[in-house]
This record gives sequence, C-alpha cells and structure tokens, in this order.
Amino acid sequence: MSPAGLRASASAPAKTNLALHVGDPTPDGYHPLETLFIAVDVRETVTASINTHVARRGSGVMVTVSPAPGSEYAEMIQSGTARLSDIPLDDSNLAVRAALAVSEAHGDNPGIELRIDKAVPVAGGMGGGSADAAAALVAVDALLAKHLDQPRLGRHRLMNIGSTLGADVPFMILGGLAEGRGKGDDLRTVETDDQLHLVFVPQDQGLATPAVFRQWDHAHRVHTAHRSQRAPDPLNPALVRAAAIGDAPGVATWVRNDLQSPALELLPELAALLNHGVDLGALAGWVSGSGPTVCFLAESAEAAEDLVNGLRREHRHAFSTTGPVVGAQLIPEWGTI
Ligand code: ATP
Repeated sequence: MSPAGLRASASAPAKTNLALHVGDPTPDGYHPLETLFIAVDVRETVTASINTHVARRGSGVMVTVSPAPGSEYAEMIQSGTARLSDIPLDDSNLAVRAALAVSEAHGDNPGIELRIDKAVPVAGGMGGGSADAAAALVAVDALLAKHLDQPRLGRHRLMNIGSTLGADVPFMILGGLAEGRGKGDDLRTVETDDQLHLVFVPQDQGLATPAVFRQWDHAHRVHTAHRSQRAPDPLNPALVRAAAIGDAPGVATWVRNDLQSPALELLPELAALLNHGVDLGALAGWVSGSGPTVCFLAESAEAAEDLVNGLRREHRHAFSTTGPVVGAQLIPEWGTI
C-alpha cells in the first residue's frame, strides 16, 4: 500500500453530565469542577488519511465536515436549523489541533487529511468538538504509527495530549461513566452494569460555554481574583450509585447541573421545555453541560421513543440514545491498516 493510500477511522461519543458542580474560578480563570460524565451513543467519526499534497499547504492538516447520514444533526442541517459553516475548517478546529499534536508527538507530519462525519449538534453542551478531537487523536495515532513504522502513542498518552486541547477531551477517549475533577480531566471510571435511556432536544441556537460561565460568575458575584475561593460541592454518592446500576428514578432524584441556571438566564425559553418534557413523561430533564441542548431521562427504551415522538409531533428536533458507551475507538473495517 502506498503511503497516500493509508487511512484510519475512529469514532468517539458525545456526553452529558449527570452532575456538574462548579466552584469559584482560580486566578487563571478556570472553574474547578466536580462532574459525573456519561458517554452517550451518538458518535462522531473521524477518518484520517495521508495526503502528501496537504503537507505543502498551511499547517499540513486539512479537514472537511459532513453531516453523518441518518443523524439528527443531518436533519437539522437539512431543515436549516443548523449550519455547517458554524464549524471552523482552519487550525482552530479541534480535530486539526489534535492531528497536529499527535504528529508532533510522532516527530513527523507527512500531510494529513481529516474527514469528520458529524452527528453531534454544534455548541450544544454535548462536547461534539471534544469528541472530534478524541476520535482524531486515536485515528491519527494509528495512521502515523503505521506510516512511520513506530509504536502507537497509546490511550494514556493520548489522554494527556487531549487534556491540552480541551477539558472534556480525555473523557471522550475514556468513555463510560466517570467522575471528573479539576477542569474535568482528572478522571475516575465508575464501573456500571446497566444503561440509562436518554432523549436529547437540540436547540436552533448554540450557547458559547465561556458566556455561560461568565453568567455563573455574575450570579455568584465573582468580580475579583482576591476573594476566598469556594470549592465545588463534592459529588453525591447516591447519584453515582444510581447511575452505576442504571437506576433511572434514582438518577432523576439526584441529577444536578450548576450551569443550568445561568443557561436559563441566557435562554429563558428552555425552562418551559424542561417542564414540558416532564409533562410528556420524562423522569427528569436538565440542560446538557453548558447547554442549550436539553436532556431528558426516560424510564425505558419505549418511554424514550414515546417522548421523542411527542416532541417531534410539536416539530422539535429530538432523538433518543443510551449511555454509558465506550470511548474513542478505532473502526477496523473502515481502515486499510
Ligand atoms: P462543550 O460542551 O465541550 O463546551 P459544546 O458541545 O457546547 O462543547 P462544540 O460543538 O464542541 O460545543 O463546539 C463549540 C465551538 O467550538 C463551536 O462553536 C466551534 O466554533 C468550535 N469548534 C472547534 N472545533 C470544532 C469541531 N470539530 N466541531 C464543532 N465545533 C468546533
């Protein structure tokens, strides 16, 4: 196989946070978190290939993005409620940054072309960009290891590189159910033996994560760097236990997102949607991460489908999924290596 024919594909999951506890920012501006991540079965796919023509252009990495066929995101693009142009195609794309970081660690960039098949709504609080970075890290590592005849960097090293790209990236590599501390990248896996059924309702407009944190700061009167810093509340062990055994009513009782109030202050119409989903049968609803995607918890797969159908009848975008699922993974049948 000539180098120009080499390619590798990897997928990575989206996430929501069953708990997201926020503390006062440290002097470098980061908010310490205590969070319970759950990886959900909506996956981004990144295919990386060697393209020596790309080596001579710009940074040596180029990216294209397509909506993943059959995904809710593809329907959003088709109906005009989402725009592909919201995704940067330059070196600020997280998948490009991931490819550059991996090629630096391998010591060579022969020219890398990336294709993202996107299923996760953009700027929705589901970590789609982080999933792209995680999938790109895994795919480009496999690609360059083969091309350069070197060992792969491996999962641990990729998680460390991922933490330099974004706080959620290491979790997208790890997957499953995990407690996250610090910026969210100090992770501890929680073993699980059952699944939760979730319904996501993406919104027409995105919310920028920094704007939601600024709103949180405003509500908590964080104005100076010299005040005493309040740590995030510790995770609730009852929630962690309930999530581990797939106890949906237990999770519904204890789920908590400190970024929900600031997100609702920025987009007040989300409050009515949260109540409405519960009226339609959800056990609980919350804003996913920094929003504005809303996540509902259903009692069963059937209940999740009923909820999706009810929301779609009202002409909303909605889809059901399950979690926890595995983190970033190579897709062997797609690759030529
Ligand atoms: P998080 O919850 O991790 O803050 P999010 O799910 O709210 O993220 P993303 O979809 O990851 O939001 O995108 C946030 C912003 O990042 C986008 O508005 C876009 O400008 C930029 N971005 C960079 N790379 C990507 C990518 N590969 N896919 C989507 N957005 C990207």
